[in-house]
Amino acid sequence: MSDSRPENIVIIGSGPAAWTAAIYAARANLNPIVFEGEPVGTELPGGQLMLTTDVENFPGFREAISGPDLMDRMRAQAIHHGTRVVSELVKQVHLASKPFGIVPNYSVPFTAHTVLIATGAAAKWIGLDNELRLAISGGGVSACAVCDGAMPFYRQKRLAVVGGGDTAMEEAMYLTKFASEVVVIHRRDSFRASKVMANRVLEHPKVRVIWNSQVTDVLGDDFITGLQLTDTATGAVSDIEVGGLFVAIGHTPNTKFLQGQLDITEHGYIKVSSWRTETNVPGVFAAGDVIDDYYRQAITSAGTGCMAALEAERWLAHHGIGESPVLETAEAPVPATPESTFP
Ligand code: NAP
Repeated sequence: MSDSRPENIVIIGSGPAAWTAAIYAARANLNPIVFEGEPVGTELPGGQLMLTTDVENFPGFREAISGPDLMDRMRAQAIHHGTRVVSELVKQVHLASKPFGIVPNYSVPFTAHTVLIATGAAAKWIGLDNELRLAISGGGVSACAVCDGAMPFYRQKRLAVVGGGDTAMEEAMYLTKFASEVVVIHRRDSFRASKVMANRVLEHPKVRVIWNSQVTDVLGDDFITGLQLTDTATGAVSDIEVGGLFVAIGHTPNTKFLQGQLDITEHGYIKVSSWRTETNVPGVFAAGDVIDDYYRQAITSAGTGCMAALEAERWLAHHGIGESPVLETAEAPVPATPESTFP
């Protein structure tokens, strides 16, 4: 560890939750430092919005704003208010001792009184070259129908959804509003989705299911034109024309680097208290998609980032750092005596 004094707050992540938390922490004079990560494959600093072309549902932008532009603006706002940014991934944290330890990929380790984890979740991809290329370029491949499906590009086209879980069902239903036809492509002969959601899809007049099929290529140069399918039972190969592909085969929360130091759900998300962002380790907070497999929206992520920063701020104040009022509400009483201050 470096000999320098512990940071007040270290924020790990670079999506809407991380930047919103940084804006709040910086405005509270906590001098936050953000580890924004570095590009690895389709994972870019900025998170999933870096793969989203037009964002039409983030309040404040009458016309659509591109995902990368939105992230740029949040980042710039955080820096404007005094956030320091390190463009490195954190490879390890030490949360069992205080101050907490943060070990970046290249720099010397840091220590911090509070840690705010907003590392998001990565959409799983099938792993085809053209799939990833067209997802990055905005060529009609997406991992989020709610984010992208309403764009004019996808209207009145045959759209494909890959997957057989609840997410695939939800995406398929959502896309029926815009598509001429929704084709759900699933690698087995039954869905793993809940019965009620699966039935809704199976009964919808605009939806057709192609069972026992794996997408083995995405066709098209600048924009998607079709898919190559391989029958998982017979091995037969066929093509289908589509105007969009939505990959809904699950998400992986980015929690590996925590190495079991926080309570995690069975699906790998960080556990937080209900309507709070505190984890099971006092002083460690979590926000954004790393705690949320339900809403997964930029705005909800930003919202929990704000909550986490306020909770961290109040926690620090309770331990003698900063000026934040330690708010007591009817639902959240504050212990009468402050806990020990930091050395
Ligand atoms: P999931 O339940 O893990 O389903 C993933 C689906 O993708 C499975 O059908 C799987 O096929 C398929 N798949 C995985 N890898 C694939 C690959 N490489 N190629 C083709 N297909 C692949 O993930 P999810 O649907 O995102 O749901 C995650 C959790 O969130 C679940 O617990 C779910 O209930 C919950 N959720 C709930 C709601 C809701 O209640 N409103 C909405 C969304 C999600 P196999 O079936 O063959 O394994």
